Amino acid sequence: MMGLKKDDKVMVIGGKDKGKSGKIKQVLHARNRVVVEKLNLVKRHTKPGMDQTQGGIIEKESSIHRSNVMLFCEKCDKPVRYGVRTMEDNSKVRYCKKCEELFDK
Ligand SMILES: [Zn+2]
Repeated sequence: MMGLKKDDKVMVIGGKDKGKSGKIKQVLHARNRVVVEKLNLVKRHTKPGMDQTQGGIIEKESSIHRSNVMLFCEKCDKPVRYGVRTMEDNSKVRYCKKCEELFDK
């Protein structure tokens, strides 16, 4: 089964950001997690540095477990299940199980 990839549009289906969608920034294969742009933000405190930077709070994306996101189909306008199809040139593409739209073009 092909997994999610960087730049996929996904929707969060569980947790505090449920219902929000965004683009995958990073896939953490080993941990089965993804980092989605501007989602699941956590506040991190930074200390004032030697270089005159001010201490404060910055928001940074935290990873989300793979099972809490679903691939978002623009055509269906909702999160969907996808299948994998092998093309004539043997490349594998993911498609929306609802409308058959291909995710990998
Ligand atoms: Zn679709």
